[in-house]
Amino acid sequence: MTDTTRSNLPTFDGEEILAGIRRWVEIETPSHDGAAVNRLVDMVERDLARIGAHTNRIPGRDGYGDVLEARAPWGKEDEPGILILGHLDTVHPVGSLATTHVFRRDGDAVFGPGIYDMKAGSYMAYYALQHFVRQGRTTPLPVRVLYVPEEEVGSPTSRAAIEAAARKSKYVLVMEPARDGGKCVTARKGWGRFDMTITGRASHAGSRPQDGRSAVRELAHQILDLEAITNFDVGVTVVVGTAQGGSAPNVVPAEAHATIDLRVPPTVDADTYVRRILDRKPRDADCSITVTGGINRPAYGKNAGIAALFEHAKACAAEVGFVLEDTPLTGGVSDGNFPAALGIPTLDGLGADGRGAHALDEQITFSSLVPHVQLLVRMLETLR
Ligand SMILES: [Zn+2]
Repeated sequence: MTDTTRSNLPTFDGEEILAGIRRWVEIETPSHDGAAVNRLVDMVERDLARIGAHTNRIPGRDGYGDVLEARAPWGKEDEPGILILGHLDTVHPVGSLATTHVFRRDGDAVFGPGIYDMKAGSYMAYYALQHFVRQGRTTPLPVRVLYVPEEEVGSPTSRAAIEAAARKSKYVLVMEPARDGGKCVTARKGWGRFDMTITGRASHAGSRPQDGRSAVRELAHQILDLEAITNFDVGVTVVVGTAQGGSAPNVVPAEAHATIDLRVPPTVDADTYVRRILDRKPRDADCSITVTGGINRPAYGKNAGIAALFEHAKACAAEVGFVLEDTPLTGGVSDGNFPAALGIPTLDGLGADGRGAHALDEQITFSSLVPHVQLLVRMLETLR
Protein backbone atom coordinates (compact mmCIF):
# COMPACT_ATOMS: atom_id res chain seq x y z
CA MET A 1 0.00 0.00 0.00
CA THR A 2 2.79 2.44 0.85
CA ASP A 3 4.40 4.22 -2.06
CA THR A 4 5.18 7.70 -0.93
CA THR A 5 8.60 7.85 -2.53
CA ARG A 6 7.68 9.98 -5.52
CA SER A 7 7.87 13.58 -4.48
CA ASN A 8 5.93 15.79 -6.81
CA LEU A 9 3.95 17.70 -4.27
CA PRO A 10 1.48 19.97 -6.04
CA THR A 11 0.95 23.52 -4.84
CA PHE A 12 -2.52 24.93 -4.51
CA ASP A 13 -4.10 28.34 -4.30
CA GLY A 14 -5.86 28.62 -0.95
CA GLU A 15 -7.91 31.59 -2.17
CA GLU A 16 -9.27 29.55 -5.05
CA ILE A 17 -10.19 26.69 -2.69
CA LEU A 18 -11.91 29.08 -0.31
CA ALA A 19 -13.83 30.75 -3.14
CA GLY A 20 -15.18 27.32 -4.11
CA ILE A 21 -16.09 26.47 -0.51
CA ARG A 22 -17.88 29.79 -0.22
CA ARG A 23 -20.11 29.00 -3.22
CA TRP A 24 -21.17 25.78 -1.52
CA VAL A 25 -21.64 27.43 1.88
CA GLU A 26 -23.81 30.19 0.44
CA ILE A 27 -26.45 27.69 -0.56
CA GLU A 28 -27.96 26.92 2.84
CA THR A 29 -28.85 23.26 3.36
CA PRO A 30 -30.63 22.24 6.57
CA SER A 31 -31.08 18.45 6.54
CA HIS A 32 -34.86 18.57 6.85
CA ASP A 33 -35.30 20.87 3.84
CA GLY A 34 -34.82 18.52 0.90
CA ALA A 35 -35.52 21.25 -1.67
CA ALA A 36 -32.81 23.45 -0.16
CA VAL A 37 -30.31 20.60 -0.06
CA ASN A 38 -31.12 19.77 -3.68
CA ARG A 39 -30.25 23.31 -4.76
CA LEU A 40 -26.71 22.53 -3.63
CA VAL A 41 -26.85 19.03 -5.11
CA ASP A 42 -27.68 20.75 -8.44
CA MET A 43 -24.59 22.93 -8.15
CA VAL A 44 -22.31 20.07 -7.10
CA GLU A 45 -23.63 17.93 -9.95
CA ARG A 46 -22.87 20.73 -12.43
CA ASP A 47 -19.39 21.21 -10.94
CA LEU A 48 -18.71 17.49 -11.27
CA ALA A 49 -20.04 17.40 -14.83
CA ARG A 50 -17.69 20.26 -15.75
CA ILE A 51 -14.67 18.12 -14.84
CA GLY A 52 -16.03 15.11 -16.67
CA ALA A 53 -16.97 13.04 -13.63
CA HIS A 54 -19.75 10.49 -14.09
CA THR A 55 -22.63 11.24 -11.74
CA ASN A 56 -25.62 9.28 -10.56
CA ARG A 57 -28.34 10.96 -8.53
CA ILE A 58 -30.57 8.86 -6.29
CA PRO A 59 -33.86 10.69 -5.66
CA GLY A 60 -34.42 11.65 -2.05
CA ARG A 61 -37.26 10.31 0.04
CA ASP A 62 -39.10 11.24 3.23
CA GLY A 63 -38.52 14.92 2.47
CA TYR A 64 -34.73 14.65 2.31
CA GLY A 65 -32.51 15.67 -0.58
CA ASP A 66 -30.93 13.47 -3.23
CA VAL A 67 -27.88 11.27 -2.78
CA LEU A 68 -25.20 12.16 -5.33
CA GLU A 69 -22.67 9.58 -6.45
CA ALA A 70 -19.74 10.58 -8.62
CA ARG A 71 -16.97 8.62 -10.27
CA ALA A 72 -13.73 10.25 -11.38
CA PRO A 73 -13.45 10.26 -15.18
CA TRP A 74 -10.67 7.67 -15.08
CA GLY A 75 -10.45 4.11 -13.80
CA LYS A 76 -12.50 1.00 -14.40
CA GLU A 77 -16.07 1.13 -13.20
CA ASP A 78 -16.07 -2.30 -11.58
CA GLU A 79 -12.63 -2.14 -9.96
CA PRO A 80 -12.65 -1.64 -6.17
CA GLY A 81 -11.14 1.75 -5.44
CA ILE A 82 -11.27 4.67 -3.06
CA LEU A 83 -14.57 6.00 -1.77
CA ILE A 84 -14.63 9.58 -0.47
CA LEU A 85 -17.59 10.42 1.78
CA GLY A 86 -19.03 13.86 2.43
CA HIS A 87 -22.37 15.32 3.42
CA LEU A 88 -23.96 18.42 1.94
CA ASP A 89 -26.49 19.13 4.72
CA THR A 90 -25.89 21.24 7.80
CA VAL A 91 -27.68 21.73 11.13
CA HIS A 92 -28.26 25.43 10.45
CA PRO A 93 -31.67 26.73 9.32
CA VAL A 94 -32.10 28.80 6.17
CA GLY A 95 -31.45 32.42 7.13
CA SER A 96 -28.39 31.71 9.30
CA LEU A 97 -26.14 33.08 6.59
CA ALA A 98 -27.81 36.48 6.88
CA THR A 99 -28.02 36.54 10.67
CA THR A 100 -26.13 34.24 13.05
CA HIS A 101 -23.53 32.86 10.62
CA VAL A 102 -22.61 35.65 8.22
CA PHE A 103 -19.78 34.52 5.93
CA ARG A 104 -16.75 36.41 7.12
CA ARG A 105 -13.02 36.19 7.50
CA ASP A 106 -11.13 37.25 10.57
CA GLY A 107 -7.43 36.60 10.28
CA ASP A 108 -7.01 32.87 9.69
CA ALA A 109 -10.60 32.03 10.69
CA VAL A 110 -13.39 31.80 8.12
CA PHE A 111 -16.96 31.66 9.42
CA GLY A 112 -20.12 30.39 7.77
CA PRO A 113 -23.02 27.99 8.35
CA GLY A 114 -21.73 24.43 8.05
CA ILE A 115 -18.35 25.57 6.73
CA TYR A 116 -16.48 23.34 9.20
CA ASP A 117 -19.05 20.52 9.40
CA MET A 118 -18.54 19.91 6.55
CA LYS A 119 -18.86 21.98 3.41
CA ALA A 120 -15.12 22.67 3.37
CA GLY A 121 -14.26 18.96 3.46
CA SER A 122 -16.92 18.06 0.93
CA TYR A 123 -15.61 20.73 -1.43
CA MET A 124 -12.02 19.57 -0.92
CA ALA A 125 -12.98 16.15 -2.30
CA TYR A 126 -14.33 17.80 -5.44
CA TYR A 127 -11.30 20.07 -5.65
CA ALA A 128 -8.92 17.10 -5.49
CA LEU A 129 -10.69 15.44 -8.43
CA GLN A 130 -10.56 18.72 -10.35
CA HIS A 131 -6.82 18.87 -9.70
CA PHE A 132 -6.21 15.53 -11.39
CA VAL A 133 -8.37 16.52 -14.35
CA ARG A 134 -6.57 19.85 -14.74
CA GLN A 135 -3.22 18.10 -14.65
CA GLY A 136 -4.36 15.44 -17.10
CA ARG A 137 -3.37 12.85 -14.55
CA THR A 138 -5.08 9.86 -12.98
CA THR A 139 -4.79 7.80 -9.79
CA PRO A 140 -3.79 4.14 -9.47
CA LEU A 141 -7.21 3.26 -8.04
CA PRO A 142 -10.59 4.48 -9.28
CA VAL A 143 -12.05 7.22 -7.09
CA ARG A 144 -15.70 7.64 -6.19
CA VAL A 145 -17.31 10.39 -4.15
CA LEU A 146 -20.61 10.03 -2.34
CA TYR A 147 -22.43 13.16 -1.20
CA VAL A 148 -25.08 12.48 1.44
CA PRO A 149 -28.08 14.83 2.00
CA GLU A 150 -29.02 14.04 5.64
CA GLU A 151 -26.00 12.94 7.68
CA GLU A 152 -26.87 15.31 10.49
CA VAL A 153 -30.08 13.39 11.21
CA GLY A 154 -28.44 9.96 11.06
CA SER A 155 -28.45 9.25 7.30
CA PRO A 156 -31.79 7.40 7.42
CA THR A 157 -32.27 7.48 3.62
CA SER A 158 -28.65 7.24 2.48
CA ARG A 159 -27.24 4.50 4.67
CA ALA A 160 -27.92 1.78 2.10
CA ALA A 161 -26.15 3.78 -0.62
CA ILE A 162 -23.18 4.42 1.68
CA GLU A 163 -22.85 0.74 2.55
CA ALA A 164 -23.28 -0.37 -1.08
CA ALA A 165 -20.60 2.06 -2.24
CA ALA A 166 -18.32 1.05 0.63
CA ARG A 167 -18.62 -2.63 -0.21
CA LYS A 168 -17.25 -1.85 -3.67
CA SER A 169 -14.24 -0.03 -2.20
CA LYS A 170 -10.78 -0.86 -0.87
CA TYR A 171 -10.56 2.28 1.24
CA VAL A 172 -12.95 4.91 2.53
CA LEU A 173 -11.81 8.47 3.20
CA VAL A 174 -14.25 10.64 5.15
CA MET A 175 -13.94 14.40 4.75
CA GLU A 176 -15.57 15.24 8.10
CA PRO A 177 -13.75 18.06 9.87
CA ALA A 178 -10.32 17.56 11.37
CA ARG A 179 -10.20 18.23 15.10
CA ASP A 180 -7.99 19.53 17.87
CA GLY A 181 -5.47 21.15 15.56
CA GLY A 182 -5.80 18.92 12.50
CA LYS A 183 -6.16 15.42 13.92
CA CYS A 184 -7.98 12.66 12.03
CA VAL A 185 -10.31 9.99 13.41
CA THR A 186 -9.53 6.27 13.54
CA ALA A 187 -12.18 5.04 16.00
CA ARG A 188 -15.67 6.10 16.92
CA LYS A 189 -18.23 4.99 19.45
CA GLY A 190 -21.53 3.63 18.24
CA TRP A 191 -24.67 5.68 18.57
CA GLY A 192 -28.12 4.51 19.61
CA ARG A 193 -31.26 6.64 19.50
CA PHE A 194 -34.53 5.79 21.21
CA ASP A 195 -38.01 7.24 21.72
CA MET A 196 -39.86 6.46 24.93
CA THR A 197 -43.59 6.92 25.52
CA ILE A 198 -45.11 6.50 28.97
CA THR A 199 -48.85 6.18 29.44
CA GLY A 200 -50.50 6.72 32.80
CA ARG A 201 -54.01 7.80 33.68
CA ALA A 202 -55.41 11.33 33.82
CA SER A 203 -57.46 12.66 36.70
CA HIS A 204 -58.37 15.96 38.36
CA ALA A 205 -55.29 17.16 40.27
CA GLY A 206 -57.48 18.75 42.95
CA SER A 207 -60.53 16.60 43.48
CA ARG A 208 -59.37 13.10 42.40
CA PRO A 209 -55.54 12.97 42.42
CA GLN A 210 -55.63 9.49 43.93
CA ASP A 211 -57.31 8.17 40.75
CA GLY A 212 -54.54 9.40 38.48
CA ARG A 213 -51.32 7.63 37.50
CA SER A 214 -48.71 10.22 36.66
CA ALA A 215 -46.77 9.50 33.50
CA VAL A 216 -44.46 12.42 34.36
CA ARG A 217 -43.55 10.93 37.74
CA GLU A 218 -42.87 7.62 36.04
CA LEU A 219 -40.74 9.48 33.50
CA ALA A 220 -38.74 11.03 36.33
CA HIS A 221 -37.90 7.56 37.67
CA GLN A 222 -37.04 6.32 34.21
CA ILE A 223 -34.71 9.24 33.50
CA LEU A 224 -32.73 8.54 36.64
CA ASP A 225 -32.66 4.78 35.98
CA LEU A 226 -31.59 5.27 32.36
CA GLU A 227 -28.85 7.74 33.11
CA ALA A 228 -27.57 5.44 35.84
CA ILE A 229 -26.54 3.08 33.02
CA THR A 230 -23.77 5.56 32.17
CA ASN A 231 -20.37 4.15 33.02
CA PHE A 232 -17.54 6.51 32.14
CA ASP A 233 -14.94 3.86 32.96
CA VAL A 234 -16.11 1.60 30.13
CA GLY A 235 -17.12 4.52 27.93
CA VAL A 236 -20.87 3.88 27.84
CA THR A 237 -23.10 6.92 28.19
CA VAL A 238 -26.86 7.37 28.28
CA VAL A 239 -28.40 10.82 28.04
CA VAL A 240 -32.10 11.62 28.07
CA GLY A 241 -31.92 14.52 25.68
CA THR A 242 -35.52 15.65 25.57
CA ALA A 243 -38.48 15.07 27.90
CA GLN A 244 -42.07 16.27 27.69
CA GLY A 245 -45.23 15.36 29.48
CA GLY A 246 -48.57 16.40 30.85
CA SER A 247 -51.46 18.31 29.38
CA ALA A 248 -52.40 21.01 31.92
CA PRO A 249 -51.26 22.28 35.33
CA ASN A 250 -54.31 20.85 37.09
CA VAL A 251 -54.34 17.39 35.51
CA VAL A 252 -52.46 14.28 36.65
CA PRO A 253 -50.46 13.68 33.46
CA ALA A 254 -51.47 10.70 31.36
CA GLU A 255 -48.65 10.90 28.82
CA ALA A 256 -44.94 11.59 28.77
CA HIS A 257 -42.25 11.29 26.13
CA ALA A 258 -38.48 11.27 26.09
CA THR A 259 -35.65 10.71 23.63
CA ILE A 260 -32.63 8.72 24.70
CA ASP A 261 -29.07 8.90 23.36
CA LEU A 262 -26.73 5.92 23.87
CA ARG A 263 -23.01 5.89 23.07
CA VAL A 264 -21.04 2.64 23.20
CA PRO A 265 -17.35 1.95 22.53
CA PRO A 266 -16.38 -0.90 20.17
CA THR A 267 -15.14 -2.92 23.16
CA VAL A 268 -18.58 -3.60 24.66
CA ASP A 269 -21.56 -5.63 23.51
CA ALA A 270 -23.92 -2.91 22.31
CA ASP A 271 -26.91 -5.27 22.31
CA THR A 272 -26.78 -5.61 26.09
CA TYR A 273 -27.26 -1.86 26.47
CA VAL A 274 -29.85 -1.68 23.71
CA ARG A 275 -31.91 -4.32 25.50
CA ARG A 276 -31.64 -2.48 28.82
CA ILE A 277 -33.13 0.58 27.16
CA LEU A 278 -35.80 -1.23 25.14
CA ASP A 279 -36.98 -3.41 28.04
CA ARG A 280 -38.02 -0.68 30.44
CA LYS A 281 -40.27 -1.84 33.27
CA PRO A 282 -42.48 0.80 34.87
CA ARG A 283 -42.01 1.48 38.58
CA ASP A 284 -45.75 2.10 38.75
CA ALA A 285 -47.50 -1.04 37.53
CA ASP A 286 -50.44 1.06 36.33
CA CYS A 287 -48.22 2.93 33.89
CA SER A 288 -47.03 1.43 30.63
CA ILE A 289 -43.85 2.13 28.72
CA THR A 290 -42.98 1.63 25.08
CA VAL A 291 -39.50 2.26 23.75
CA THR A 292 -38.54 2.16 20.08
CA GLY A 293 -35.17 2.65 18.45
CA GLY A 294 -31.78 1.01 18.37
CA ILE A 295 -28.22 1.43 17.20
CA ASN A 296 -28.10 3.97 14.40
CA ARG A 297 -24.35 3.90 13.81
CA PRO A 298 -22.27 0.91 14.88
CA ALA A 299 -19.04 1.48 16.79
CA TYR A 300 -15.63 0.75 15.34
CA GLY A 301 -12.13 0.55 16.69
CA LYS A 302 -8.72 1.13 15.15
CA ASN A 303 -8.20 -2.31 13.65
CA ALA A 304 -5.20 -3.38 11.57
CA GLY A 305 -6.66 -2.09 8.30
CA ILE A 306 -7.46 1.31 9.76
CA ALA A 307 -4.08 1.51 11.48
CA ALA A 308 -2.29 0.76 8.20
CA LEU A 309 -4.33 3.37 6.35
CA PHE A 310 -3.56 5.88 9.08
CA GLU A 311 0.18 5.13 8.85
CA HIS A 312 -0.04 5.69 5.11
CA ALA A 313 -1.79 9.02 5.65
CA LYS A 314 0.86 9.98 8.19
CA ALA A 315 3.60 9.36 5.64
CA CYS A 316 1.72 11.49 3.10
CA ALA A 317 1.26 14.27 5.66
CA ALA A 318 4.98 14.18 6.46
CA GLU A 319 5.70 14.84 2.79
CA VAL A 320 3.27 17.74 2.87
CA GLY A 321 5.08 19.00 5.93
CA PHE A 322 2.93 18.30 8.93
CA VAL A 323 2.54 15.64 11.57
CA LEU A 324 -0.79 13.86 11.27
CA GLU A 325 -2.15 12.52 14.53
CA ASP A 326 -5.34 10.66 15.34
CA THR A 327 -7.71 11.38 18.21
CA PRO A 328 -8.59 8.99 21.01
CA LEU A 329 -11.95 7.23 20.71
CA THR A 330 -14.61 9.88 20.13
CA GLY A 331 -18.28 9.79 21.05
CA GLY A 332 -19.18 11.77 17.95
CA VAL A 333 -20.36 9.66 15.02
CA SER A 334 -20.31 10.09 11.27
CA ASP A 335 -21.08 8.22 8.07
CA GLY A 336 -17.60 6.74 8.52
CA ASN A 337 -19.11 4.41 11.14
CA PHE A 338 -20.94 2.47 8.42
CA PRO A 339 -18.00 1.40 6.20
CA ALA A 340 -15.67 0.95 9.17
CA ALA A 341 -18.15 -1.38 10.87
CA LEU A 342 -18.26 -3.37 7.62
CA GLY A 343 -14.53 -3.91 8.02
CA ILE A 344 -13.42 -1.60 5.21
CA PRO A 345 -10.34 0.47 6.12
CA THR A 346 -11.74 3.91 6.83
CA LEU A 347 -10.01 7.14 7.74
CA ASP A 348 -12.18 9.98 8.98
CA GLY A 349 -11.63 13.62 9.88
CA LEU A 350 -9.61 14.46 6.76
CA GLY A 351 -11.44 17.76 6.15
CA ALA A 352 -10.55 21.29 7.14
CA ASP A 353 -9.30 22.14 10.59
CA GLY A 354 -11.35 24.57 12.65
CA ARG A 355 -13.85 24.49 15.46
CA GLY A 356 -17.40 25.15 16.56
CA ALA A 357 -19.26 22.41 14.67
CA HIS A 358 -23.02 23.07 15.00
CA ALA A 359 -22.26 26.16 17.09
CA LEU A 360 -22.55 29.90 16.61
CA ASP A 361 -18.81 30.31 16.17
CA GLU A 362 -18.46 27.57 13.53
CA GLN A 363 -15.24 28.28 11.62
CA ILE A 364 -12.46 26.76 9.56
CA THR A 365 -8.78 27.59 9.66
CA PHE A 366 -7.86 29.03 6.27
CA SER A 367 -4.26 27.89 6.57
CA SER A 368 -5.38 24.25 6.90
CA LEU A 369 -6.99 24.18 3.45
CA VAL A 370 -3.92 23.78 1.25
CA PRO A 371 -2.10 21.18 3.38
CA HIS A 372 -5.27 19.11 3.80
CA VAL A 373 -5.97 19.17 0.05
CA GLN A 374 -2.33 18.22 -0.53
CA LEU A 375 -2.74 15.33 1.91
CA LEU A 376 -5.87 14.10 0.14
CA VAL A 377 -4.29 14.39 -3.30
CA ARG A 378 -1.17 12.59 -2.11
CA MET A 379 -3.27 9.77 -0.67
CA LEU A 380 -5.27 9.44 -3.86
CA GLU A 381 -2.13 9.20 -5.95
CA THR A 382 -0.36 6.71 -3.66
CA LEU A 383 -3.04 4.34 -2.38
CA ARG A 384 -3.09 1.15 -4.37
ZN1 LIG B 1 -20.54 16.27 9.72
